[in-house]
Amino acid sequence: MKQNLLFVNPPIYDFTAYDFWLKPYGLLKIAGAFSSQNLYYFNFLGENYKKSVKRDGRGKFFKKKAEKPKIFSDIKKPYFRYGAPKEEFEDFLKSIKEIDAVLITSSMTYWYLGVKEAAESARKIHPKAKIILGGIYPTLMPESAEQLDVDFVVKGSDIQPLREFLGVENSFLIPKWEFENKSKFGVITISKGCPFSCSYCAIKQIEKDFSFKEREILKREIESLNNEKIKNVAFYDDALLFQFNNGLGKFLELAEDKAFSYHTPNGLNAKFMTKETAVKLKKANFENLFLSLESADETFLEKSGGKLQREDFLNALENLLSAGFSKDSITSYILLGHPEIEEESVKESILFLKRAGIKPHLAEFSPIPNTRDSEKCSKYADLKEPLNHNKVAFSIRVLGLEKYQQIKSFAREIFK
Ligand code: SF4
Repeated sequence: MKQNLLFVNPPIYDFTAYDFWLKPYGLLKIAGAFSSQNLYYFNFLGENYKKSVKRDGRGKFFKKKAEKPKIFSDIKKPYFRYGAPKEEFEDFLKSIKEIDAVLITSSMTYWYLGVKEAAESARKIHPKAKIILGGIYPTLMPESAEQLDVDFVVKGSDIQPLREFLGVENSFLIPKWEFENKSKFGVITISKGCPFSCSYCAIKQIEKDFSFKEREILKREIESLNNEKIKNVAFYDDALLFQFNNGLGKFLELAEDKAFSYHTPNGLNAKFMTKETAVKLKKANFENLFLSLESADETFLEKSGGKLQREDFLNALENLLSAGFSKDSITSYILLGHPEIEEESVKESILFLKRAGIKPHLAEFSPIPNTRDSEKCSKYADLKEPLNHNKVAFSIRVLGLEKYQQIKSFAREIFK
């Protein structure tokens, strides 16, 4: 007999949140893998719950002021809940007669209050349903996740434990984009893991090894996006340009006739932006390019993993410009709030980008337990509590509110 499975992407509780091509990619893949069952889907951050949307799909979520957890009493900033109202989810739950399992995903560890809220609603309305929690939060913080009122916690990306728990067979992990057919964008990865090892990054805890996806899987994912007429595609890969000819190059050939526009929210490693690669990206219609710089401080770049140097960044820029990209289409990430990046160094990075004519995107640093940098970070916050991984709170704790705000206004002033 078919099971009734409900897939849920929970709301966000945070100081700030923006739909920067956010989709519950893992959850949609699991839904695709269990397509033979009766499926239901509720995305708190779906298209109905955005107050504005750009042409490429990015946009602002509806938000409401939320009670700030006591742990943030030192952070003098308002706290919000983003996404669909709780009542709407509960009405949706009531509209389904019987549910066998509610599968809730999660991304940032410090967004777990949204997971908790969704699980509580599901438990209240469907007390007999099994509640299953998966995604990044339980993978990185299993002890915390197990304290929530859920029946099964999925750690990591292996589908087998989930299949055994549900007692149903799965097919390919191809995202069920039918659930997001109102969306202007979809997301994809062509690989798993990352070949690098940055000192502050949790990727190895999520996916130990790096590998490219099989050609057959990519073809099916492309078809699944295309069937829903999704035109904007954002890559979630962590090393999108690595071994271009074996990876992205092959993908672009497979998707050549689909007229997708591509976006790279995860930041491209400038080291791999050769002249040839830049030309291929332009030809394939890459629109928004986010280049990783993290910091113009070469000592930090070296210490944190040596994935690139300033010189690599400038070469990449030259290659992109000569391939026909405009400076306006390129943005570069600068890390803010890492314990080893001084305020002056962030400002220097901003000025470096100004000289290069490229906009900065200040990315606040979020500390993750069990990384090489976590010990340095523990001085500022107890990392056993996931809320303390909050990027805004942590950056303010490292820099102080005044310096934090000064850096932000410095960037605004320089680029106005
Ligand atoms: S390149 Fe990105 S994903 Fe890879 S280890 Fe560094 S920060 Fe993590």
